[in-house]
Amino acid sequence: MRLTVVGCSGSFPGPDSPASCYLLEADGFRLVIDFGNGSLGALQKYCGLFDIDAVCLSHLHADHCVDLYSYSVARTYAPAGVQPAIPVYGPAGSEGRMSLIHGPDGDDGLMKRFLFETLAPGRMMIGPFDVELAHVNHPVETFGFRFSRGGRSLVYTGDTGETEAVPALAAGADVFLSEAAFLEGPDLPPGIHLTARQAAAYASQAGVGRLVLTHLQPWNSLDDARAEAASEFGGDLDIARAGQVVDLAGLAPLSGGPFPACSRLRAATGPR
Ligand SMILES: [Zn+2]
Ligand SMILES: [Zn+2]
Repeated sequence: MRLTVVGCSGSFPGPDSPASCYLLEADGFRLVIDFGNGSLGALQKYCGLFDIDAVCLSHLHADHCVDLYSYSVARTYAPAGVQPAIPVYGPAGSEGRMSLIHGPDGDDGLMKRFLFETLAPGRMMIGPFDVELAHVNHPVETFGFRFSRGGRSLVYTGDTGETEAVPALAAGADVFLSEAAFLEGPDLPPGIHLTARQAAAYASQAGVGRLVLTHLQPWNSLDDARAEAASEFGGDLDIARAGQVVDLAGLAPLSGGPFPACSRLRAATGPR
C-alpha cells in the first residue's frame, strides 16, 4: 500500500494544501479517500484525471467531499466522451447531498458518473483493500477506516472528537493518520475534533507504528501540535504535508522534500 497526501488542511484549504484528500494505491488500484475543497486540482499531480478506481467519503462536510461534484463534471464532459461510472462509498444520503451542489433541483445526471454505495460499520472489500469501518464522534455521520493489504494497515480517523472507537480501530496499525484539528485550550467544543495531544494519546493506547497528524487548521502552529503530540506518544511522529508519500511496505517516505506544510509555521492567531 502506498499513501499520498493530496490535501491535509483542516476544515478549509490552507495556503499550502487543499482540504482533506488522500490517494491510497495497491496492486494498480487507486482509491481516493475524501475529496475536500481544492483537492481535484492537486490530485492530478499524482495520477491521471480518469485513473481513479473508487472514492471513499468519511462524511459529508464540504472539506471532505465537495470536489466530488467537480469530478462529476470532469467525468461527464471529458473530451474522450463520458467516462464510465466508478464506485463512491459514502454515508447515507451522499448522492443527494452532492447533487444539490449543482442546484436546488438536482444535478441533471452528473452523479450518474458514480455508483453510490452506502457505508455501514463492519468490514468490506474496496478493490484490494480489506476495510474495517467504525462510526466516530462528529456532528454528522462519520466513519473511521482501517485499510489492510499485504500485512500492513493504515487507519484514518476521518473527523472525530473523543471516542474509544478510535483506539479500537487503530490497535496495532502500522500508520495512524489521525485528525488533530485542535490544540489544547479552554472551552474546546466537545464531539467535533481531537487535539494533537488527544490524537497522540490514542496512538499510544493503540500501539501504532507511526502517528501522522493531519487536518491541522491553517491558523495553528505545527510546532505546538508536534509538541503536544510528543508529550503523549514516544514513537514515530510526523505531520502530514501535501505531496507526502508513505510506502507502507517500507514505512519510509518515498518522495523527496521539501514539501509544503499544510499549516504555516507560525504562532496561532485565530480561534481554535
Ligand atoms: Zn474536516
Ligand atoms: Zn467534519
